[in-house]
Amino acid sequence: MFDYYEELGMSRDELLAKIQTMVKPSRFRHMLSVEKTAAELAKRYMGNIYSASLAGLLHDYAKELTDADFLALIDKYQLDPELKNWSNAVWHGKVGFLKIKEDLGLNNAEILHAIEVHTVGAKELSLLDKIIYVADYIEPGRDFPGVNEARELADESLDKAVAFETLRTIGYLAERHQPIYPQTLETYNSYIGSLSVSEKGE
Ligand code: GDP
Ligand code: FE
Ligand code: FE
Repeated sequence: MFDYYEELGMSRDELLAKIQTMVKPSRFRHMLSVEKTAAELAKRYMGNIYSASLAGLLHDYAKELTDADFLALIDKYQLDPELKNWSNAVWHGKVGFLKIKEDLGLNNAEILHAIEVHTVGAKELSLLDKIIYVADYIEPGRDFPGVNEARELADESLDKAVAFETLRTIGYLAERHQPIYPQTLETYNSYIGSLSVSEKGE
């Protein structure tokens, strides 16, 4: 377990206490689990274990802000007003990373970017971005159809795991007639080629 003092000027215990003022216990446990899973993926794929751990720990920091909070932050941070047409699912990454920067004084651009794209991905993802995107989906507390296939793919190829997760997320949202954020479709288009037909599932 890392102490994040160098990055944030606070001890791990202080950081954990701060996170717990922002999220309920079940989400806090999920964030700790993503921290650990991201570290394992970084080890497996020769990424930066420290960055993966901290990005994993913080990725859902802003998830329990209210819609009114996010709408105000979009103005405060001068983000594209079009973002206001979306919802918490998109905001907690696309706006949340700037709330983390503001609240915690985190200035590591790679970590902030991985948090920004952790839900919707992007056309081009760094190794750290892929690690967080996938760790969030496969951490041991997750239990939904396809999660074990995602875990197996993540052991074989991060690109395949990214593609599979995006495919399943788009299918899930489309079945429920939910809007799909354009960046999610860009992720799909750029990674789906890495998955063979038999790996796409029923
Ligand atoms: P969590 O924060 O740990 O629950 O996981 P995520 O950040 O990956 O996802 C949060 C929610 O966003 C999930 O319910 C996803 O189904 C949803 N989601 C993912 N991509 C999109 C998208 O493109 N559009 C919309 N509307 N929701 C999405
Ligand atoms: Fe999230
Ligand atoms: Fe998460």
